[in-house]
Order: sequence, then structure tokens, then C-alpha cells
Amino acid sequence: MQVLNNAPAERHFSNRFEADGMTFEMPSPHLFNFNNPYGACKRCEGFGTVIDIDPDLVIPNRQLSVYDYAIACWKGEKMSAWRDALVRSAHHFDFPIHRAITDLSPEQYELLWTGNPYFGGLNNFFAFVESEAHKIQYRVMLSKYRGRTICRDCKGTRLRPDAQYVKIGGKSIGELVTMPIGELRHFFAQLVLPDYDQSVAGRILTEIGNRLEIMSGIGLDYLQLNRLSATLSGGETQRINLTRSLGSNLTNSMYILDEPSVGLHPRDTARLVAVLQQLRNLGNTVIVVEHEEEVMKAADFLLDIGPLAGHLGGEVVFADTPDRLPAAERSLTAQYLTGAKQIALPTQRRKPTAFLTVENANHHNLKNITVRSCYKPYRL
Ligand SMILES: [Zn+2]
Repeated sequence: MQVLNNAPAERHFSNRFEADGMTFEMPSPHLFNFNNPYGACKRCEGFGTVIDIDPDLVIPNRQLSVYDYAIACWKGEKMSAWRDALVRSAHHFDFPIHRAITDLSPEQYELLWTGNPYFGGLNNFFAFVESEAHKIQYRVMLSKYRGRTICRDCKGTRLRPDAQYVKIGGKSIGELVTMPIGELRHFFAQLVLPDYDQSVAGRILTEIGNRLEIMSGIGLDYLQLNRLSATLSGGETQRINLTRSLGSNLTNSMYILDEPSVGLHPRDTARLVAVLQQLRNLGNTVIVVEHEEEVMKAADFLLDIGPLAGHLGGEVVFADTPDRLPAAERSLTAQYLTGAKQIALPTQRRKPTAFLTVENANHHNLKNITVRSCYKPYRL
């Protein structure tokens, strides 16, 4: 500090969050909420997807290499010049032109889009095509590669990009919601915060921990928090709703569930039962329609409606505590549970004659696997 005539000089410091040419807003809860216009990504308005160049249409077969024309729009007499530029110059920056696209590193894949001084990437290519869009053939070309695809700005996280700069334990909210719940739980369990941060975040961390524990408790370990609800199975949706109810500590309510164990690994059924009992213990009534033995046995009161399916049923054949069920004569359920009736395993299995083969499946946790299953064509 400069001191002149014994008077302290005035100095101004910026009180704005600025770095690398970006101005950051003061973080608030809305910043992390894509359902709020403030936090939603400006490009896709919080949807996570936009109508844009779809990488799956540009590179329809990821088993091919650049050399083998994996990039569909860089084929043909005129456009192959773009591909040739990359093939010819690849040795300058060590790009594996003979490697399948699916085996490229994330950086190498990104390079296909961004390009470098040696070759124009796909982004440049499509910018060029768009600039020529007054000609019909280029418009046709654009429409071939356009589709609903992940938003470039937010990478599908639906949040404005500056929200991703706020990190907790080295991770941004975008990274956290793309982690499977099992891993996420581990992350929060390991998280150590400075004393002050801990005192501010303590309550919410407890909540987060509880919710994640319940979700993983009922076998949803593999889900990511950013999964769209429309892509969940009925069983998954019901179980997620259950965790919400448990978190809200609602009492004196009635829950009616239709086969919540559907899609559940048998090993997780006991955990589902524990969650249902927890709901009951909070002072709620839980009515479950279920065929799963373990869930039936755990009920406080069991109602068997039968004796057969459809119009042959509709009568109450048993209504009591589950331990009395074996004695219920008219109940088919009881007969199967006691083993009086059985579904026999076939002694001889048919030999499959045809197979349905899925080759080199690559998605989520499938890493280039080939499976085949026997397939019986329908005969009409
Ligand atoms: Zn976006």
C-alpha cells in the first residue's frame, strides 16, 4: 500500500466472482435447480436435450474406425475431403485412425468434434453446412443428422454451466447426479468438511444420507439421480415414491402398492419389507398387492382373493394373520406355499433351434458384450 502525506491511499478490490473471463453469480439454491429459470441451462431450458446434430446419427456404427468411414457425413465424393484431411494428418498428433470409435479415449473422441489446426472437426463441418443451408442439398444433409440429442452446453445435466463450477468434495452437482446411488452414498459417507461448512451443511447431509440409504436399501443402488422418471419401471417408480414418503415422515396415511417387488432382485426383497415395516411403524397403513412369498409372510394381515383367476375368482378365501394361512383349505396360495401343490420343473428341456444374438452391445454398464439367447419364432 502506498502512503502519501501520511494519508492511507484508497484501493479497490473487486467484490465480484470473476475468473477467466467468466462472471459468477452468488450461489443460491435456485442455481442448482433446473426446474427454475434461474438455474436451468439457457440452451436447452433445463430439458437436457435439444434438437441438434445427433452424434448417434453422425457416427451410426461405433465399431468402425475413422479410416473405415465411421463418420457418416464424411462419405461421398465431396465430403470425404474432410475425412481425408484427418487421415492424412493424423500422424502429426498421434490419432489412431484405425481404432474403432468406441475404443477412442474421451479426448480423442472430443478431438473429432473440435478439430485442430491440421483438420476441421465435426463442429466446423456442421457450421460450414449450416452456412450453406440456403442450398437445398445442404438443408437435406443437415436434416439427416439432426435429432433430439444431449445438450452441448450442459452435457445433459440441465443446469447452467456456471453451476458446475461449485464443488463439494471436489465434485460438482452434475457429476454427483450421474453417479450410481451406491457410489454416491459412499461419496457422502467419506465426505469430510471443514468445521464451519459441516455446521452449515450438517442437517442437509443427514437428509441426503438417509434418502440415499433408503434408496440403496430397496435395491436402487444402480440408478443415477438424473434418470428421467419416464424411463423407470413401475416397480422402480413405486419404490422411489416410497423413499420420498419415508423422508417426509408423514403419518396416518394409507399407502396402496401394486407389486412393489417387481423387478427386484430376490436378495433385496427383505430390504423392501423392512422399508414397508418402517412406513407402518411411522403410523401409516400399508396395503400391498403382492405375489412374492416373503412379502406375504411379513404382512400383519393377509387377504387371499380367489380361488382362481379372472371370473373364477373374486371371493375372499382367506383373511387372517399369515401364520394361519397354511390351514386355509380353499386357498391355492396356501397349497403352493405348503408344497401341497407344485409347479414341476420340466424333466426334459427343449433344445433351442434358433438364437437371437446381440453383438457388441455398448451402453451404460454394458462393455462390448455379445450375448445370445434361444429364440422361438411365433407360429401363427
Ligand atoms: Zn443444456
